Amino acid sequence: MNKENPFGSVHFNTIGTTLKKEFGRRVIKLSLDGGFTCPNRDGTAGTGGCLFCSFDGSGSYAGTIRSQIDLLGRKWPQGVYIAYFQNHTNTYAPVSVLRRLWDEALAYPGVVGLAVATRPDCLPSEVLDLLTEYNQRTYL
Ligand code: SF4
Repeated sequence: MNKENPFGSVHFNTIGTTLKKEFGRRVIKLSLDGGFTCPNRDGTAGTGGCLFCSFDGSGSYAGTIRSQIDLLGRKWPQGVYIAYFQNHTNTYAPVSVLRRLWDEALAYPGVVGLAVATRPDCLPSEVLDLLTEYNQRTYL
């Protein structure tokens, strides 16, 4: 084991390295709370949520895009951002709501892409179409 490669002879690309190659600088993920819930909480598929999921939908540090940029931009002032909709199920809303949130996030200076945490039963065809559209417009 050495400092350069703590995993010995195993080599792999980390997401950080891959994004740095893509954008030429550090890419910071902003953990965002889009105000969603999920079918395992609202009674559609269950209540109370999954055993391993925290009360806030596994997004304890998620916040607004402004608060995240204020916090992380100070640490890495040369960085760019991926807006990561993290907690709960981030496609569990009408397409008009998703579009508004994603457009709002992408309009922030320095935001170069989106990441959207979701579950396979919350990807109806209109949401897949929307994801396809944004995949052509930005780094998704
Ligand atoms: S957000 Fe995901 S992990 Fe959390 S309760 Fe809902 S389905 Fe489970």
